[in-house]
Amino acid sequence: METIGFYAGSFDPFTNGHLQIVRKAANCFSKVIVGIAYNNEKKTRINKEEMKQAIERTIQELELKNVKVVLYNGLTVKEAQKHGANILIRGLRNGTDYQYEEDIAETNQKISGLDTCYFRAGELGYLSSSLVMELWQNGVEISEFVPTAVVEILKKKV
Ligand code: ADP
Repeated sequence: METIGFYAGSFDPFTNGHLQIVRKAANCFSKVIVGIAYNNEKKTRINKEEMKQAIERTIQELELKNVKVVLYNGLTVKEAQKHGANILIRGLRNGTDYQYEEDIAETNQKISGLDTCYFRAGELGYLSSSLVMELWQNGVEISEFVPTAVVEILKKKV
């Protein structure tokens, strides 16, 4: 059976923590779709189209041939089903993430029947998009925390 995983997130920006989850999922499933969620009413830190391209470049460089990136608006489960996904993917950093993710996962299962598979953050559990932005805004070099293509779009912003 083909297993298609849908990894949803804000990815604002996409970090090495997110990338690690994509790599783990790509090893387990036939196909992985990275879904960048956007909301017309909510302002994002980084342009979504540019973030999509940066993630695409990153997965291309790593030759992750079974990974695809999409932008979507609205319900995650609807978008996942549109792509034929049979599992949702999320990353867990700590207990707080677990509690938060469980509510979403349970709701998603109830409304769509889609279950969620969690991958561990491990050593990258300290990393978050907001931490990266805070460092960046304060002039700290961030190439250790995000893929090169993401550093490039951040540099263009200033
Ligand atoms: P959202 O706003 O949907 O929570 P994020 O982009 O912050 O989107 O995160 C997407 C998913 O990736 C979430 O499941 C989050 O727990 C997970 N995640 C975020 N940072 C890391 C990390 N450093 N390691 C592993 N998973 C992470």
